This record gives sequence, C-alpha cells and structure tokens, in this order.
Amino acid sequence: MSKSSPRAEIAYQALRQAIIEQALLPGAKLPEDQIGAHFGMSRTLARATLARLQAEGLVDARPKRTATVAQPTLEEARDIFEVRKALEREAVALTIKRWRPEYGAALEGHVREENAAKARRDDRVSIRLAGEFHIKLAAMSGNKVLQRALAELVSRCSLILALYGRPHSSECAVNEHSQIIAALRKKDIAGATRLMEEHVGSVERRALLADAPSADLDLDAVLSRYARTIEASNAAISLPVGRRKRSS
Ligand SMILES: [Zn+2]
Repeated sequence: MSKSSPRAEIAYQALRQAIIEQALLPGAKLPEDQIGAHFGMSRTLARATLARLQAEGLVDARPKRTATVAQPTLEEARDIFEVRKALEREAVALTIKRWRPEYGAALEGHVREENAAKARRDDRVSIRLAGEFHIKLAAMSGNKVLQRALAELVSRCSLILALYGRPHSSECAVNEHSQIIAALRKKDIAGATRLMEEHVGSVERRALLADAPSADLDLDAVLSRYARTIEASNAAISLPVGRRKRSS
C-alpha cells in the first residue's frame, strides 16, 4: 500500500465506508473537484483516492468522465459471488486448522454487535458489521492474500446488494453467523464449510433480486457525515487477530 496524505486517507476511508454502508449508491457521481474541495486537497489527490477505490472494484473512473460508484452487472455479480463462495470455504477450513481459543469469543462478540445494530434498526451499521464478520473470519485463516481478496469481494457484494437487493436488507442473517461459529468451535470442517456455503448462497439470493435504486443524493452531506465519524474515531477496521506464521 502506498503512503498517502492524511487528508487523502480520510477521504479514502470516508468514501469506502459510505459506499459499503450504501449511503452512496451504485451510479452516484463522485466529481474529483467536489471531493478535492470537500477534503481540502488537490484534484490530483482526489483522483488518486478514486483510483485506489477503483482498484478495489468500488468505483468506476474513466478518462474525461465523472467517476461514479461502481455498478457491477448481473454477470459480474454472479462471478463475484462464485469466487466469494470458493474463498469463504477455504477461509473456514484454514481457520479451523489454525484455531485459537480466543477466536470463538472474538467472533461471538462481533455477533453481539450485529444483533445490537439490528435491534436499534441501524441498517447502515448492520450492513457494515455483516461484511466485517466475514473479513474477521478471513483474517483468522492466517492467510493475508486470502484475507485481502475476501475483503475486496465482501465490499463488492455490499455494492451488489445495494444495486439488486431489497432496499435496506442487510447482508447476512445473524443467526447463521452463530451457527458457523458453533461449527468452528467444534472444529467441524465439513459442517462449517457447508454452513458457510449455504449462508453465502442465501446472501446471493437476497442480493440478486430487485431493480436498481436511484443514486441521486447530496454528496457533500454524505461525505461530511462519514469524514466526521472517521476523524473522531479513526475508525479503521481493526482485526483482533495475532500474526500467524506458517511453518513451511
Ligand atoms: Zn454473513
């Protein structure tokens, strides 16, 4: 990862989180000059920030056109879920092989946060936490390449859900996360991989449902909200996982 200015980093995190939480919907325009002005940085830095998000599949930026939040086609959406299912199975199997006692409590704590967000009907946080469950689990696999690939796929699934899913449907059924944790604790590789495959399959079915929503909104208002939160809490996703070294 390249080193970027603090402002560009906040802009990156704010945009990324706003896209994942569906505050910025697929197709929403992201003008460089407006983003640059909003975060007090040059258009060049704004363009670099958008390029970073494009590399993660979250933004569509082309020369001489205003960048937009990416709009994956149905075919891309199916491809993304296909790869995600394969990698999630692998993440579950590796996590069981490298299981540590503290993992169960860390995942259960996460599920409690998901339930709390659901109870207060905080859809945006529910969507983000649902994705983060999968990213935490991928981190526990001990494979950084797998973790990075899954983080990108999970973010792109959030876009797909915004584009094709029911309005305000959060990504995951939380009780299914609990069932997966129970199978992980038992070190039941066959059971856990089956549960994960079914779970991601049901997310996919919910995600590929409806018509695309409108992407009209007030970009500055959304960016202000996210930048404030991120500056206040420096809310980068942190993973409660120690480093693992492979012995081979
Ligand atoms: Zn899930």
